[in-house]
Formats: sequence, C-alpha cells, structure tokens
Amino acid sequence: MSTVSIVGCASYEADAVDAAVRQSLDHLGGMSRFVRPGMRVLLKPNLLAPRAPSEATTTHPAVVAAVTRLVQEAGGIVTAADSPGGPFVASYLKAVYAKTGMEQVARETGLVLNHDLADTEVTNPSGKLLKRVRIIRAVAEADLVINLPKLKTHGQMVYTGAVKNLFGAIPGTDKIDLHLRMADYQAFADALIDICLAAKPGLNLMDAVIGMEGAGPSAGDPRHLGLLLAGEDPFSLDYVAVRILGADPMRIPVIKAGIERSLCPASLDDVTIMGRSVDDVGVKRFDMPALNETLAITWSQGRLLGWLAQWTKPRPVFNHATCTGCSLCARSCPAHVIAMETGKPCVDLKGCIRCFCCQELCPAKAITIRRLRPFVAAVFRIVYFALSMISSRLHRRKSAP
Ligand code: SF4
Ligand code: SF4
Repeated sequence: MSTVSIVGCASYEADAVDAAVRQSLDHLGGMSRFVRPGMRVLLKPNLLAPRAPSEATTTHPAVVAAVTRLVQEAGGIVTAADSPGGPFVASYLKAVYAKTGMEQVARETGLVLNHDLADTEVTNPSGKLLKRVRIIRAVAEADLVINLPKLKTHGQMVYTGAVKNLFGAIPGTDKIDLHLRMADYQAFADALIDICLAAKPGLNLMDAVIGMEGAGPSAGDPRHLGLLLAGEDPFSLDYVAVRILGADPMRIPVIKAGIERSLCPASLDDVTIMGRSVDDVGVKRFDMPALNETLAITWSQGRLLGWLAQWTKPRPVFNHATCTGCSLCARSCPAHVIAMETGKPCVDLKGCIRCFCCQELCPAKAITIRRLRPFVAAVFRIVYFALSMISSRLHRRKSAP
C-alpha cells in the first residue's frame, strides 16, 4: 500500500512553500530516505512552454527551489531538466528557463539547469506498448528522478499530473511522432504509463498550490487549491489528486489504464493518506471540460456509426484575430493537417487526431477546443450507445450459423 501526503500550502511565499515541502517529505520519511550524499538527483518540473509562473502553466519556481534546498541538505547534486513542448534546442530551452523562473532559482540555490540535448534509448521491460523508449539523457543517467508535476486539466487526456508529466522526458519532436503512432486515446494513455515506467521517478511532489482548470494545459484558468501532494508512487498520487478534484478516476484515460494494468489503486482504501484527508481538502466544481467527453471520444474511435461519432468529437478552432501567424501549430501538428494560408492556420479536420498539441503550444492562446455542451453530448452518447447495441445485435444475428 503506497503513501500519499496531502499538505496545505496557501501561497508561493518562499517560507510557506519551504515548510510545506519539508512537511510533505517528513510524511514520507524525510528526504534522506531518498537521497544519499553525492547522488545525482534530477528534478523534472513541468516546463511546458515559456510562460510566467503567474500563468499556472508550469511548476512554480518556489516549489522547485524548496525541493532543491532539501536535496542539497541531504547531500545530493541537483539538476533540473525537461523537454518542453516544441523543439528541444538550446535557444528555446534557454527561453523556457528564463520565463518560467528556473534561471532565478538556479542563481539563488545553485540548481544546475540541464543544457544537454542528447537522448538515449532505455529498455522498458514493464512497458505494454513501448518496450524500448528514447528519453533525454539527463533523465536516463540520474541516480534519482524527482518528478515535480503541476496539477492541471488537459484538453486531450482530461487531467495532467504525475504520470503525464514524464512525457517531458521524451525529446522534442519525438513527442509528435508518439502522438501520431498512438492516436487512439487508450493507446496514448498506455504509452504515457510506459514512459513513466521508463523514467522511473523515485519521488513525486505535485504543485497544486495554484492549479489550472478549464482549457488546460496551457490556456486554462489558474485555480487556487492551496495544496502540495507527495508520494513515491506517481499512480497513487494521481489517483488521490483526481479524487480531491471530485472526478471519476475511470474517466481519466491514464488512471483507467493504470487501474487495468494493476499499477494504480482503484480505491482510496488502497492508499495510506498522511496529513490532510481527501474529504477535508475536496475541491468543489473544478472545471474539467474534457471529462464529459471521454466516453464519446472512446466510442468515436470505432468505425461503427463513424459519421455520428465524428459529430460528437471536440475540435480545434483557430481565432485568426488573436493569432500572430507564428506557425508553431502547423510545425507541431503530428498529423500535418494544419496549413498556413495567407499567414494564418487552417485545419483539415478529416485527418485531425484530436491530440490538441496545437492548442497546448499556441503562445497566443488563439486556439480553443470546441466541444458539445454536456447535455447535448450526453444525448449523443445515449443515441450512439443505443444504435451501437442495435447494430451489434443485428451483426450477431447475421453471423450466427
Ligand atoms: S500557434 Fe497560435 S499564434 Fe501561432 S500560428 Fe498557430 S494559432 Fe497562430
Ligand atoms: S490539428 Fe491540432 S488537434 Fe488536430 S492533429 Fe493537428 S495538432 Fe492535433
């Protein structure tokens, strides 16, 4: 049975974060349980894009600084690394470090920022789809990976936390290739789990002081939650986080796949909670727009009644008034269905795999995901389900001897 610590942290004021991180680690036996003197410790914050900490897109620098200090106290040599969305090149990485506050943390604490752009292939015997995974060398060669996710909604996968954060161990545009190869949502969920297993985080601490709701993971609204969550097991951590948000874990693809693979707890009874209780800190009305559509999305992958399913799928919509014409969406689209026409993006929805990388990476927040209203989506699901049942009965009758 794994342990998850839930600690209150009202703000990103340095003393408050230091105290909350220390308390979280005390619940898990202290940092010295994980770090021995001389160990090379790799912090993996969420550094999705060059965004200011106030936008709640990336792990807050106060959390990274507090963890750095604790690791240093235990005698570890600390480096921070991520492969942000977009290209894994020196200039972009530098811009991400500067904007997200990591450069300042490095100046103040001695944290080393990774500038090694190399990657390496690791074997992944526990992987279901990915038995070998190419990950950035900084992660592969660390003695201990400390995963520092940010709690956010996610347009494609509903929620992003500890497991999904390790997708940043995949170098640059290899992520695009994985999106294309694993276009099916359940396959992508299994691939994310495989990547997490390959990256082997030994400790996970989630920044949920200010999370993101709505159009996450980069265009949503910051939401004050006032929490830090920590645990050795990323699956248990995500399970607890989702229960705090009041969402059904079986409707979060990564958690559902984790439960099916016996990696993730299926009940709070399977987790030892330290600190605050889930009921005590439960969040009311957390806005997770994709949650209502997970079933519709899953069903819509079948060929049966594809025309109806197609109608229920969410889709990217481009706002040309706010678009700056940077073309990052077109360059990052795994399916190559975005064309820049007279300086603005146009999408061919027929080939769109609904990964929403375009929305995630758009620096101008000019892409929204158009979804059916929950009530209309529910009606569609019922109609779709009924027609699917009728169709499969007819098929069974036809194929009966
Ligand atoms: S990434 Fe955003 S700003 Fe850049 S071209 Fe696409 S829609 Fe426009
Ligand atoms: S248009 Fe956007 S959502 Fe569709 S495949 Fe391309 S990046 Fe993914």
